[in-house]
Amino acid sequence: MRTEAAALRRAVLAGGHDPADAVLHTGAGRSRSERAAGWAVVQDAGALAVAGIGGGLDAALNPGDVVVATEVRADPSVAEPRPATITLPAAAMVASALRRQGLTVRTGPVVSTERLAHGPTRDRLAATGALTVDLESAWLLGGSAGPAGRPAACVRVVADTGALFQPGTLSQMRTALATLPAVAAGLHEWAAATTVRRVVLAAPRSFCAGVERAILVVERALELHGPPVYVRKQIVHNTHVVADLSARGAVFVDDVEDIPQGAVAVFSAHGVSPTVRSAAAARELSTIDATCPLVTKVHAEARRFSDHGDTILLIGHAGHEETDGVVGEAPGRIRLVQDVRDAEQVRVDDPRRVSYLVQTTLAVDDVTDILTVLRDRFPDLAAPPSDDICYATTNRQRAVHEVAAACDTMIVVGSANSSNSRRLVEVAERAGTPARLVDGAAGIDLRWLAGARTVGVSAGASAPPALVDEVVGALSGLGARTVEEHTAVREDVRFMLPKEVRL
Ligand code: SF4
Repeated sequence: MRTEAAALRRAVLAGGHDPADAVLHTGAGRSRSERAAGWAVVQDAGALAVAGIGGGLDAALNPGDVVVATEVRADPSVAEPRPATITLPAAAMVASALRRQGLTVRTGPVVSTERLAHGPTRDRLAATGALTVDLESAWLLGGSAGPAGRPAACVRVVADTGALFQPGTLSQMRTALATLPAVAAGLHEWAAATTVRRVVLAAPRSFCAGVERAILVVERALELHGPPVYVRKQIVHNTHVVADLSARGAVFVDDVEDIPQGAVAVFSAHGVSPTVRSAAAARELSTIDATCPLVTKVHAEARRFSDHGDTILLIGHAGHEETDGVVGEAPGRIRLVQDVRDAEQVRVDDPRRVSYLVQTTLAVDDVTDILTVLRDRFPDLAAPPSDDICYATTNRQRAVHEVAAACDTMIVVGSANSSNSRRLVEVAERAGTPARLVDGAAGIDLRWLAGARTVGVSAGASAPPALVDEVVGALSGLGARTVEEHTAVREDVRFMLPKEVRL
């Protein structure tokens, strides 16, 4: 309607946005939409967004709520030729942009009909899972003006939530129209990010052998013992992995004291101190140790250096579960060194008996700087027999370093508490490329991508590969036409499962 176009146009002008962000009034209904889809200005547009008001199909929607379409389809009962169903992979990012405008946003399918839908028609369309119904989107996006490789978006503000032409419908309509300017502001962010043309995937990325093993340990424990299986701390530092295993019956706790006497308990990939093992034994827990073997190696080195009478300088981050576990092997002998400043100030009992260990997931460059200081201060500093920073950390950092330089920006998939994921962001930034950590596509702020043509993508060792696919799919929705992979090194590491869960 003209009122919808006017509300959007006012916001575009008031925002001082690019006048090329044209707002076109198409008119309501199938035939007007089909005609508009053929306009040269629509056909030639570099990116196309359909925005307006719609009818809410989901009972939880309220007037003024916004639906960002993940898919636009025609009501199966409309006359042939029916427009194709199209998917809109950038929906999660558009939704995030609109939430930043203070809007209440859902993502889901939008359906178009030929006539105003009410009564049983609404019930039938609601049963298909569609969130809103309108008269235009499918013909504007699914027909000849369809995305065809160009970025597209569809946003509908809920005007009415039930039967049409009831008392209050006009006021609901006004609420919806008043929401459209904020929609325009969000869509401007989307438009500015539709410059992405190329995605470069850093390899290796995502799950390492230790994380795969730890997840499999919990899955096998659930199979063998049935839920609940208790897991001390997050099995790996990823919110999606933890949510998925929780849904399957794993119960994550902070402390063994939170686990019922005699229950099945898994220790996370980050390892535990001897004190935790004793507490578990005291509660007669049936324990399965999912500690990564490369973390176990660091524990063994701590015991060996301690037996030798060394002061052990543990290069790592305070409060991380891995460092807590290693410190617990020799609490009186281990000093934590977090940065170069700590390295300059740390005190030892006997400078001739000093050794060092490293948290497995640190940045190689940071550790090199710290070790330079420590070696200068303690010439007899003893090193572990092999690098503590694990192969997965090293390889992922190397790949990001090689990819970042060729990209305008980097997206690293991983949770905020994942040490190795955060280090990947730092590695990219050190290479001079802005980088962001996201838990999934919805975490991408479109403003980061404004004007970017080449986007690098990596993922921390605890981030599932499916999340990388989701991010790449979302970037394709911004116009990325090529997805390349840069392989810095090939990995074939596998770890054996603990005997308790071997089949
Ligand atoms: Fe093991 Fe390294 Fe993976 Fe951590 S990042 S689980 S130490 S392989």
